[in-house]
Amino acid sequence: MVKTVDMKDSGSISRDTRLFLVPTPIGNLEDMTLRAIRILKEVDLILAEDTRTSGRLLRHFGIETPMQSYHMHNEHRRVDSILDRLKSGDRIALISDAGTPGISDPGFLLARACIEKKIELECLPGPTAFVPALVNSGFPCDRFVFEGFLPVKKGRQTRLEELSQERRTLILYESPHKLVKTLTQICEFFGEDRMISVSRELTKLYEETLRGTVKELKEHFEIQPPKGEIVIVIKGNSDKI
Ligand code: SAM
Repeated sequence: MVKTVDMKDSGSISRDTRLFLVPTPIGNLEDMTLRAIRILKEVDLILAEDTRTSGRLLRHFGIETPMQSYHMHNEHRRVDSILDRLKSGDRIALISDAGTPGISDPGFLLARACIEKKIELECLPGPTAFVPALVNSGFPCDRFVFEGFLPVKKGRQTRLEELSQERRTLILYESPHKLVKTLTQICEFFGEDRMISVSRELTKLYEETLRGTVKELKEHFEIQPPKGEIVIVIKGNSDKI
């Protein structure tokens, strides 16, 4: 059962929530929400993927809450001690380096453990890279599939083969140095005329979104190697069966 609590803007955190998953900006500090700042000031502890990166963000917003590291290399062994603190009454917030925790970032494991132990949790709405990339693409966004990062080796080809048949808009996260390789494989598996959109450096100074066939964008990035963070959006397969 989902419980709704009125007046969340009343200035204090909702009584029962113990764990808050708090999105942080993906580039532009103005995207930090007022509620994110308040919750991060009010909790007893902030779990951060990289305490140095998050330290800069927290200082910028005058947040002095103690921080501990929580990342993909320690999340499994940290879950039990975090659950103990939550059960003892502490309120904890989880943040990642950028965007929404749990979206291609640590978060799922802790959220699932809290639900199993009946500990109330809440994910605040806020920045994430895939939503602006999807909407910028101009492809249908009523139904879409978020795939995050493709498998690096094992299962990559099978996944590409499956996805090439997908009729809904597809969203992939990619790093700049692997972009051309991935676009080459999309050409191979999806056909070089498939329409795609590549959004780079969203919310930052050099933000750009390029749209065209996968062949056109592959050729573009071969000549102009991309920099920064990247989301690939692929139009769904519209072949008639
Ligand atoms: N939790 C994040 C979110 O909610 O979007 C995603 C974290 S994941 C480790 C990092 C990837 O997200 C990057 O490799 C890139 O694909 C995407 N990303 C993050 N920030 C971005 C930005 N400003 N512009 C484009 N893509 C971005």
